[in-house]
Amino acid sequence: MTETRKRVTYLCERCGSDLVTLDAWAEWNVDQQEWVLGTTYDHTFCHKCEGETHLVEVELAAASS
Ligand SMILES: [Zn+2]
Repeated sequence: MTETRKRVTYLCERCGSDLVTLDAWAEWNVDQQEWVLGTTYDHTFCHKCEGETHLVEVELAAASS
């Protein structure tokens, strides 16, 4: 059985850059002893446009190797 897992990336809708981040909360995990990603928010920021933007989800081609 081959499980094809969809891989995606997120790009800035204005300039197409992947230098984008979004607001999120990190929660301290005592067992892992590290910050883990908690809730994510819709506020996204493009570091190329240096401003708020919206993200476009783009499906990546499956890795062949
Ligand atoms: Zn941008």
